[in-house]
Amino acid sequence: MSGHIRRCEKDKTYTLMSQCPACGGVTRTAHPARFSPEDRFGEFRRRVKEWKT
Ligand SMILES: [Zn+2]
Repeated sequence: MSGHIRRCEKDKTYTLMSQCPACGGVTRTAHPARFSPEDRFGEFRRRVKEWKT
């Protein structure tokens, strides 16, 4: 159990489960050591997508 931290794509809730306990959304694997820069890029890309849609 090294602990694969996952994060909900919707509300950014961190969990160990594949499903968000808060909203039931799909979670993606997050790397604890470097989730900060990845989080920023991910959030930026998501917002860009939302703008274009
Ligand atoms: Zn969620």
